[in-house]
Amino acid sequence: MTQIAHIFTEAQIVMPSDSSRTQDLDPIESGAQFMAAQSGAAERILAKHTRRDDGRCAQCSTRTLVTWPCTLANIANRAHMISAGRSAHQKRQSRHP
Ligand SMILES: [Zn+2]
Repeated sequence: MTQIAHIFTEAQIVMPSDSSRTQDLDPIESGAQFMAAQSGAAERILAKHTRRDDGRCAQCSTRTLVTWPCTLANIANRAHMISAGRSAHQKRQSRHP
């Protein structure tokens, strides 16, 4: 989780102090769970971590050349899907009470 923690610090995402319940998840999945819980976090990251014309990540490649999607974009995309899944579920429930 060290790399993820570093990435989250950069993205200004607060890691929960008690992460024991997510120990069995892989770093991407557990990171996405944290990110999905924070409103706008995934959108904020995806806005910066975009694919450049040369196939690198626009944000990560300011330091080293990273092929897009980078780890952070992967996590944000997953978080986005988690959030979208939740709202889709809520819509289904309201449509069919
Ligand atoms: Zn990136």
